[in-house]
Amino acid sequence: MSEQNMPKGKGPKNMPPFLKFNVYWIYGVIFLVLLALYFTGEGSLSKKMNWTELQTLAKNNDIEKVIVYNKRNVVEAFLKDSAAKAVFPDAKSSLKGAKVIVQIPSADYFSTEFGKWQQEYNLNAEVSYDDGGDMLWEFFISVAPFALLIFVWIFLMRRMSGQGGGGGGVFSVGKARAQIFDQTNRVNVNFNDVAGLSEAKQEVEEIVSFLKDPGKYTNLGGKIPKGALLVGPPGTGKTLLAKAVAGEANVPFFSLSGSDFVEMFVGVGASRVRDLFRQAKEKAPCIIFIDEIDAIGRARGKNPNMNSNDERENTLNQLLTEMDGFGTNSGVIILAATNRADILDKALLRAGRFDRQINVDLPDLRDRKEIFLVHLRPLKLDSSVDPDFLARQTPGFSGADIANVCNEAALIAARNGKESIQKEDFMSAVDRIVGGLEKRSRVYTQDEKRSIAIHESGHATISWFLEHANPLVKVTIVPRGKALGAAWYLPEERYITTTQQILDEMCATLGGRAAEEVFIGHISTGASNDLERVTKQAYAMVCYFGMSDKLPNLNYYDSTGQDWGFSKPYSEDTAKIIDAEVQRFISEQFERAKSILKEHAEGHAKLAALLLEREVIYSDDLEAIFGKRPWVSRSQEILNEEEKRKGSETEEHNPIFS
Ligand code: ATP
Repeated sequence: MSEQNMPKGKGPKNMPPFLKFNVYWIYGVIFLVLLALYFTGEGSLSKKMNWTELQTLAKNNDIEKVIVYNKRNVVEAFLKDSAAKAVFPDAKSSLKGAKVIVQIPSADYFSTEFGKWQQEYNLNAEVSYDDGGDMLWEFFISVAPFALLIFVWIFLMRRMSGQGGGGGGVFSVGKARAQIFDQTNRVNVNFNDVAGLSEAKQEVEEIVSFLKDPGKYTNLGGKIPKGALLVGPPGTGKTLLAKAVAGEANVPFFSLSGSDFVEMFVGVGASRVRDLFRQAKEKAPCIIFIDEIDAIGRARGKNPNMNSNDERENTLNQLLTEMDGFGTNSGVIILAATNRADILDKALLRAGRFDRQINVDLPDLRDRKEIFLVHLRPLKLDSSVDPDFLARQTPGFSGADIANVCNEAALIAARNGKESIQKEDFMSAVDRIVGGLEKRSRVYTQDEKRSIAIHESGHATISWFLEHANPLVKVTIVPRGKALGAAWYLPEERYITTTQQILDEMCATLGGRAAEEVFIGHISTGASNDLERVTKQAYAMVCYFGMSDKLPNLNYYDSTGQDWGFSKPYSEDTAKIIDAEVQRFISEQFERAKSILKEHAEGHAKLAALLLEREVIYSDDLEAIFGKRPWVSRSQEILNEEEKRKGSETEEHNPIFS
């Protein structure tokens, strides 16, 4: 019967699982070998005899030693070499320990009879008595250590190879652990799912176009980059972009993380790299994506004494070799992602390996709006939700943070039993992600509450009157996470910052402590976070940005973080000047904050009272107290421009409200 015609379930492929070969068979074989060893090992050359035969052996003085097992009524008589040869003529193994086993009526009877034989035949065999415990127990005692060893070994192997059971077990340790997406298991991500990142997308589009039609490039003698490195902060969409490349190009996609290569065994990493490239070449054209490549790609030779480092270096060397080793046009393209391109080995970044570095930065205002549009698509929204507004409220958020905000908002709305998600749910989600969970249950005395209100109003008042301070969104005295209260700002998205801008920010940050001193008369520990921030800013101004008059145009920062790593590349005298300058900057801004507060003491008092009453106040309330803010922030300018542009365009259908 041909294999195709076999009834279902009977063919070799459909054998019952216990008949199929798997690793447990090998463990079984090892166990049987052990068993065999036990019974065939030293002293197991044995034969059963009767009483008369034993007497003959005694008569010929062939017995060397006798052990009497009281309980089992058995005697083991160990033979002298000459006698053993006669008794076991066919024995191939050593005759040492050869014995005969004889059943006796009783130990007493044997000892009387044997005593007689000793005298009569002048027999000088030594006799010993044994309890003659359980055979099974003896077997257990001798096999247990081996069994335990095997068990520990199996356990370790399974843990190391990360396999739950069955499958390859220990034998797959050297195999690459890539997740493979191909025809059967397709990547369902395309460029439409990746919002923003227009420059990065443009770069990878060339890779897609090569994978779709390599001839277009190779006909002209062109070579496609072998690898592209996506570099950027966490959650900015590097993995997503790599997946989109695979989805668009419709080629197999091997996805794995740098740490998947590293293992306790020496040589496993290198073997996994080899295996990965072998598999990839079989499936070419395809994409290999290595996430967090810094786990193996870290610069070599930093810790030569560490063994684990040797293993990582071997892995890296193998990766370098493989990336050099395959032909340019073999169709295997490597994408890798990292948050830290600066610590990667130079050899990895040279042209011909990862010769393209694609920066995937935190999204700006426009990109954030697009990311919101992608993640708002599946949500049921209220008409109050405006992606523009949400994008403005989330400066510094990564794509992953935005995805999280959308999900969190849906959960908050569901918790409150709403039919659709409203703007305030998004605001609560943003607050929660930035500040942590609200802790309304925390109990404060009236004095503490008043001091927090004065502190937060201090920040709010000063930021209202300083040109470069970030515009305020809201002030709250509801504790959240570790903070007792907070003033929430809309940080401007600047690419360069001037001295005056930093000073204004420092002044606003010191506003809380200044308000405590001016309006309460004593200071508290509540400002420690502000002070830490201000101190760091001041040091950065002096040591990194060369903004101090006394030490102009000097930068003591080593951005390479490598060779010539001076911990303190300046003299003690300079250190004193640095400290003095830092103190000067901070005290000047503190005095400035106090004078602004004194000038607007009345407004500040109203604000603090309102805050105590309502717990949360918004920029509108500040406007009502202080009048319109004299400065227009840059983000406000961008928004105004956008509004104007929008107005001139025909109204667009907004997909999220459909
Ligand atoms: P890490 O460096 O920590 O590995 P990453 O840069 O690889 O992070 P991803 O895993 O790609 O980040 O992104 C996480 C999630 O964030 C994605 O699944 C997606 O939901 C969302 N996201 C990030 N960037 C974008 C974007 N540009 N457009 C749409 N969604 C995004």
